[in-house]
Amino acid sequence: MSECKFDVSWVGRCKKPTLGESEYCAVHYGMKCCSCKAQATHDCDRTGQLVCGAPLCDGCDGFETPGAGYGFFGFGGHGHRSKQWEAQREGQP
Ligand SMILES: [Zn+2]
Ligand SMILES: [Zn+2]
Ligand SMILES: [Zn+2]
Repeated sequence: MSECKFDVSWVGRCKKPTLGESEYCAVHYGMKCCSCKAQATHDCDRTGQLVCGAPLCDGCDGFETPGAGYGFFGFGGHGHRSKQWEAQREGQP
């Protein structure tokens, strides 16, 4: 048994005992990335009025989209998507 490696925003490693052979505790094991549904490894540390806290995997992150017409928990234009997707998008002319 080891410590949960989930990275909690503003707190750090979760460090609760892991579940069986997994690398996560009972709370974080099976927690899905809100963007791609993979195992979440950390939560979103973006802050507005509150910490966002949405579960994210290693491949995804929170992004601000200025002028976007949607919000997430009161974050104007804040959303979650794959870093790879974002890199590709930035690579476009
Ligand atoms: Zn945990
Ligand atoms: Zn993801
Ligand atoms: Zn977020």
